[in-house]
Amino acid sequence: MKLFDVYPLYEVCPVRAKDVYVYDEAGTEYLDLYGGHAVISVGHSHPHYVKQLEKQLNKIAFYSNAVLNPLQQKLAEEIGEQSCLHNYQLFLCSSGAEANENALKLASFHTGKKRIIAFKNSFHGRTSAAVAVTDNQKINAPLNQQQEVTFIHFNDLEGLENELKEEDVCAVIFESIQGVGGLDIPDDEFVIGMNTLCHKYNTCLIADEVQSGFSRSGKFFAFQHNNIQPHVITMAKGMGNGFPIGGILVHPDLKPKHGMLGTTFGGNHLACTASLAVLEIIKKNKLQQHAESMDTYFRAKAEKISGAKIKGRGLMLGLEFNFEVGPLRKRLIYEKNIFTGGSSKKNVLRILPPLTVQKKHFDRFFDALEDLL
Ligand code: PLP
Repeated sequence: MKLFDVYPLYEVCPVRAKDVYVYDEAGTEYLDLYGGHAVISVGHSHPHYVKQLEKQLNKIAFYSNAVLNPLQQKLAEEIGEQSCLHNYQLFLCSSGAEANENALKLASFHTGKKRIIAFKNSFHGRTSAAVAVTDNQKINAPLNQQQEVTFIHFNDLEGLENELKEEDVCAVIFESIQGVGGLDIPDDEFVIGMNTLCHKYNTCLIADEVQSGFSRSGKFFAFQHNNIQPHVITMAKGMGNGFPIGGILVHPDLKPKHGMLGTTFGGNHLACTASLAVLEIIKKNKLQQHAESMDTYFRAKAEKISGAKIKGRGLMLGLEFNFEVGPLRKRLIYEKNIFTGGSSKKNVLRILPPLTVQKKHFDRFFDALEDLL
């Protein structure tokens, strides 16, 4: 049987990984400044993470959501503590798209409305409602186009209010730092205004923290750089350090009903254990503060590269050049053995390393970049 060929591939085959490095069959070491697309948060194969998963696997890996699973409650408490969002409620699923799908559905249940406002250059996933609020027609099938979605620009508060005044909008969904879209960040005043307007017009504000959450931005969630209260916060990627887990945090104003949301795999024992291990490592190693200080270090180095604009925040960073970065990314992999990321803006190179990245790794990256440029 052949694979359904949907991914353009680099000719690299990692067979093992450790912290910020991945190794191919020949033993070649690659510096991972891509984190498998912002998924590796606490470093590849962290010993505590491996130990906890092994222990859990030997006890019980999975049982359905029809029975008690205290690991889910433990995870909710730990996320509450680290995010300081103690009064939110946790629902677990298995991916970023699924988290957004549930968030949008919940917003529609709660408000009784169905139009959604999303932003230009957004990416929220590939499932039905998540892809409909993604600003990329190429990945929307005719089937997905039945959703009522209006795309507006970041920072257009007046435009947003005009839409909300129609009283038919169930949700505004935004990325606090756009990922795939190229690391744009809405202005603080806009984010605060958007929060106020959503509460005024009975519309749910959904913060998509799938990529920027779990301490990558230097705060637990990137929206926490502003004092706002989204109705729903979605998360995945760094939450499990590679174990598939996603979730939503739901504001106390939104009340649950039995059967309203559900999933087979979400919140299983192994997934919860993976995420709890991630949180323990983040706390013990102060990775949130570390992300912030590495941001400062990266900026200081990047400022010396002429013609490059620095984008993003924390360890969700990018360099914008005046040329397309595809060939540069290839040379970084094949000649310098460094993984980096791209974006839908073809001239933005994305840097999404494990949160354990050190100065010496950035030094190696900037030396390689200088050489190639
Ligand atoms: N939301 C954001 C901001 C993302 O960056 C992504 C994936 O890149 C998703 C949602 C979708 O997540 P998943 O691929 O786990 O479905």
